[in-house]
Amino acid sequence: MPDLKTELAGIIKDLKARLAFEETFGVEVISINAQNNLVKSSTTITQKNDMPKTSAPQTESNDKKPLTTRPKEGKAKLLEELKNETLVCHKCPLGETRTNLVFGAGNPMASLMFVGEAPGRDEDLQGEPFVGRAGQLLTKIIEAIDMKRSDVYIANILKCRPPGNRNPLTDEIALCIPVLTKQIDIIKPKVLCAMGTFAAQTLLNTKEPIGFLRGKFHDYKGIPTMATFHPAYLLRNPGEKAKVWEDMKKIRDLLKELNNK
Ligand code: URA
Repeated sequence: MPDLKTELAGIIKDLKARLAFEETFGVEVISINAQNNLVKSSTTITQKNDMPKTSAPQTESNDKKPLTTRPKEGKAKLLEELKNETLVCHKCPLGETRTNLVFGAGNPMASLMFVGEAPGRDEDLQGEPFVGRAGQLLTKIIEAIDMKRSDVYIANILKCRPPGNRNPLTDEIALCIPVLTKQIDIIKPKVLCAMGTFAAQTLLNTKEPIGFLRGKFHDYKGIPTMATFHPAYLLRNPGEKAKVWEDMKKIRDLLKELNNK
């Protein structure tokens, strides 16, 4: 049992590290209240997310159990099957111009799922979502709420890159959206985060501007869905980062509440 002095020194060290990091994220003021201790909340979310409450102990014979009793493997298998079906998709012309299909990536058991717009050049080349500059910022955003990229699931509205990174067309979205719908149905995240106009308007079935939608939880088939600015928009408008930080704190707090239920 560490003495009080050592414990306090540890907490202060952690807080200093958090403050330094959040400064690089563009946040200058952080309010802390007694019930929402930064250090405590980080521990809770990370542990709960890594370890689903119902997970069976890892034994040698675990992989012989039916998939229905192994939720992680069951979801991973369903996602793999859906990916294989989608890899051959040529329903719209983007299937001809893409280098790689960008299905989505992350933890099949994720309690938090991010949805972006469409793959860009880097994503098209690597077949992975959010790996370019916007992706690096997204990684920082995820880490700012004490999670790792590998804790969450990341996908896009469109699975193939629109040439020259133009905006997705209505027909392309209509043809591609069933894949995302199935991904969400399989993963069943506790919270969704729609990043940018296209993700927010498509998931929430609205034409309201992102500036109006952001900062609030909306409903997507019973899943609380935060709308926020797209990381690429933040790269062009760094002054808006503090707003995204506010949205992320709401996600962090809601996840903490849901994980404690
Ligand atoms: N922008 C997106 O919306 N998605 C990606 O995967 C990369 C950049």
